[in-house]
Amino acid sequence: STSPLGSSVISLVNRLQDIFSRLGSHSTIDLPQVAVVGSQSSGKSSVLEALVGRDFLPRGNDICTRRPLVLQLVQTKRKSDGSEDEYGEFLHLPGKRFFDFADIRREIEAETDREVGENKGVSDKQIRLKIFSPNVLDITLVDLPGLTKVPVGDQPSDIEARIRTMIMSYIKTPTCLILAVTPANSDLANSDALQMAGIADPDGNRTIGVITKLDIMDRGTDARNLLQGKVIPLRLGYVGVVNRSQEDIQMNRSIKDALVSEEKFFRSRPVYSGVADSCGVPQLAKRLNKILAQHIKAVLPGLRARISTSLVTVAKEHASYGEITESKACVNIGCVLNLDMPL
Ligand code: GDP
Ligand code: MG
Repeated sequence: STSPLGSSVISLVNRLQDIFSRLGSHSTIDLPQVAVVGSQSSGKSSVLEALVGRDFLPRGNDICTRRPLVLQLVQTKRKSDGSEDEYGEFLHLPGKRFFDFADIRREIEAETDREVGENKGVSDKQIRLKIFSPNVLDITLVDLPGLTKVPVGDQPSDIEARIRTMIMSYIKTPTCLILAVTPANSDLANSDALQMAGIADPDGNRTIGVITKLDIMDRGTDARNLLQGKVIPLRLGYVGVVNRSQEDIQMNRSIKDALVSEEKFFRSRPVYSGVADSCGVPQLAKRLNKILAQHIKAVLPGLRARISTSLVTVAKEHASYGEITESKACVNIGCVLNLDMPL
């Protein structure tokens, strides 16, 4: 679970991110977030969903994620009667609350189709979604299209290069934590995820390796060496997970069920007992939050300086209009700056 310092620091950053995106200048501020990279169908969307604990992302054995999805999780207070209020809201549909998470998935699919058509087209134009829930950590996650080599449907001939550029634009940011997703049933040395993460983050300061599909490895093999970093070392290490299979998805197996059977999977295999802190979605969540909290603490002073600069710029701009009117943005930034920053 989150330390009180961790959660307050992270929620502050989420608020900043909101303000800058409303100002239309979010790209000028490098805010910490977590992005998933990997080949198509390696399990990126499945991992994100498991971290969120709700079913709402398009997943499957095909290209499902075709636009970057920026997913901001916002922890809300549990109601006094113990009931939960969980809902999603899209930036492109302000004020509309989605209480049914299946509707969220349908809206992601529909909004993807609106931008890039129904025939496997890919775009770098973001979909921004917020999920409000008492059951999440405050964190921003980015689900990205996976790397593919051969163009299909409406994809241009240079699809691989385009997706590479898109992924790089997220993970090259020094404040982006990278979840490098590789399925256990493929060779780690051929991992697109580790290859791209290695270029974006050569020192490995912000890359966590995630090994998916431990349940469908070749008989007689296991991922112990991978998880221990004996095959390809990674400074922040690896976490192995078992997500739902395509059959599980078709049978509408719940995420809760999946977490229970993941736990059972690791418990029933003695080979993983010595590496328990590298096994399972809950361990991944724990590791992520710890790294993120440390990370944000380290970048806050620089962030604060840049916000001050932005504030000065906005104030000057207003002064140049000849009439001082307090814009919403100015008031908001002022509020944030007045907060007692925990540093
Ligand atoms: P993405 O393209 O990287 O986002 O991958 P998805 O999350 O959409 O998953 C692709 C396919 O692999 C889906 O059919 C998932 O059900 C399946 N899958 C993902 N992770 C696992 C896993 O750990 N075990 C098994 N058996 N299947 C998985
Ligand atoms: Mg996906």
